[in-house]
Amino acid sequence: MITPNTMSEPAAAPSAPAAAQAPVGGTGLPPSRSLSPNPFIVAAILLVIGLIGFGGYRASEYQGMQTLRTDAGHRLDLFAAAVDGIVNRYAHIPATIQLNEEVLGVMQRKPGPASIVAANRFLQRLNGHIGSIAIFVVNERGIVIASSNWNDPDNSFVGEDLSFRTYFLEGLAGRVGRHFAIGITRGEPGYFVSHPIRQGNRVVGVAVIKISLAQLESAWDLLGAPALIADGNGVVILSSVPEWRYTALSPLPIDTRVEIKMNRLYNDGPIGDFPVSVDSDPGHEGQIVHMNLRAPSSSSPRPRSHAEVAGSYLVHGRGLKDVGWRLLIFSDLRPVRAQAFGHGALAAIATGFVLLLLLVVAQRRRIIRQKLEAKELLVQANAQLESKVARRTKALTDTNARLRKEVAERQQAEQTLRAAQNELVQAAKLAVLGQLAAGITHELAQPLGAMRTLSGNAVEFMKRGNLATVEQNLGIIARLADQMGRIITPLKTFARKSPAIPAPTDVAHAVGAALFLLDQRLSKSGVTVDNRCEAEQAIAWCDQNRLEQVLINLIRNAADAMADSEHKTLTIEATPGADGSLELSIADTGCGLPDAGALFEPFFTTKPAGEGLGLGLAISRDIVREFGGDLHAENRPEGGARFILNLPAAPKEQP
Ligand code: ADP
Repeated sequence: MITPNTMSEPAAAPSAPAAAQAPVGGTGLPPSRSLSPNPFIVAAILLVIGLIGFGGYRASEYQGMQTLRTDAGHRLDLFAAAVDGIVNRYAHIPATIQLNEEVLGVMQRKPGPASIVAANRFLQRLNGHIGSIAIFVVNERGIVIASSNWNDPDNSFVGEDLSFRTYFLEGLAGRVGRHFAIGITRGEPGYFVSHPIRQGNRVVGVAVIKISLAQLESAWDLLGAPALIADGNGVVILSSVPEWRYTALSPLPIDTRVEIKMNRLYNDGPIGDFPVSVDSDPGHEGQIVHMNLRAPSSSSPRPRSHAEVAGSYLVHGRGLKDVGWRLLIFSDLRPVRAQAFGHGALAAIATGFVLLLLLVVAQRRRIIRQKLEAKELLVQANAQLESKVARRTKALTDTNARLRKEVAERQQAEQTLRAAQNELVQAAKLAVLGQLAAGITHELAQPLGAMRTLSGNAVEFMKRGNLATVEQNLGIIARLADQMGRIITPLKTFARKSPAIPAPTDVAHAVGAALFLLDQRLSKSGVTVDNRCEAEQAIAWCDQNRLEQVLINLIRNAADAMADSEHKTLTIEATPGADGSLELSIADTGCGLPDAGALFEPFFTTKPAGEGLGLGLAISRDIVREFGGDLHAENRPEGGARFILNLPAAPKEQP
């Protein structure tokens, strides 16, 4: 069973991540997708972070501005109430002045000095009591007749011509006059309220009170931000920023400029331009302006020291109804924007974190999915591999069984062949023996006849009592029996049916045995044997009995071939071969080989029927090859044939 490898945890870096899987069993696992972030996804994430950061910034800015508006509204309401209190507290005073007899007295055409002093004293007392800057009365020509500061030689208004003043003209017209102006005597700014002085239905003069606005200076702190008050002309008359005073919020039209000049509202001082264009009524939403504001240092007392600070301000305004002024407050937007920036950054960071978290979760899920896919593919690949292995194993088992059967059959066939060969060899031996039988019979017949004669003679000599001769004859008979035994023993050895067992075999010994068996035949044919083999010179690794059989076959064939030759010489020689084997040559002076090609084929014979079977050479070659040697034949140049036996040399014995 092949078990799938359990997937190991991938390294943290997408580096290694899941490394590319090598194909398994021919089934390619999908190449692991790269864990490096997709640039489009990164760009999209950055875009989302940017958008959310920007959205957070804008939302926080909006919220901050809303708060700022509400806050500014409250402050403006407070401040407006303060201004209203200061301005209107004494606004009714001029109306009551005409009730005073002394004042009415000086309104006559030629008032006496005593009545003027009385009026002056009254006005001085009243002013002292109220705490205003000054209270004075003007006759119908615009000349100050009596004033609370009558006895202050430097500041006394008495005798001043105020006919150009709006508040005088308004009073003279029977209306209440109110406006801001800078005093022409001391240049002190103040709020003037005038009221006509009537005698009957006729306006005989104008009573005026100049209210100090110095109290408002301390009220700027209520606002906690730069602020200003612009009068009906759009000219800044009061401001927490001193530089803004007497500047016009928007360019003044020419007729307004002329009127200001004529009325000397601002004591003929220059009217500058406000640093930026500001709408005197910015509405509920307010107006955002950018300017360099010399911001007051927080701790310093008034007059404030300033430092140039560039920034954006949200301007809110409030109309002061009774006086016709506008109060503007400049709320610094930097803290709001700083906070908005902080919130935007926080939103971006939080979004980035959440997206990162989502990305990590998605990545993790993707890795797990890939792992599962890879595992599944691995399991499939294993299953395929297993089935393939099982199929191949079965095929191999079948082939193995078939081969075993074939081997067994071949072994069986080989055994049968070997048995047949052995039988054939034995049959060939017996055939040779049959052919040798005549010669052997002749060899045995002679001693046998002699033994017969000697034994008959021995009986006769015994009857005669000549025991010495009997003993002599019996001795001769015994020697003859030994001689017969020597003839029969090689025959017995040759005829023995024995398996071929290789062993060190002296070639000269085998040659001698073969020549001994064929001795009768060779001498009868007149063959001269030139045996050049010497004992123990050539030791071959083979079976002696089989070697003898081969040699008998070759020598017999040579004798046959030389039957008609004039010179019959058989030369047998053993020499060492080139490759360490032995070379045994049997050469004759016979007729030569008929057809070297078919020579070793079974049943090839040129001999007449009954004399040759054509099996001798085929069997001989088989025998030699079985020992690892070979047999081949050639025609000798000088005539006759030569058979060469190559035999493996016996391994040298270890000393
Ligand atoms: P057989 O002797 O029964 O014919 P062999 O196989 O021994 O069978 O020999 C086959 C043939 O080879 C012989 O018939 C002969 O023609 C030829 N032959 C064998 N030895 C010799 C030789 N020394 N000289 C010439 N021819 C030979």
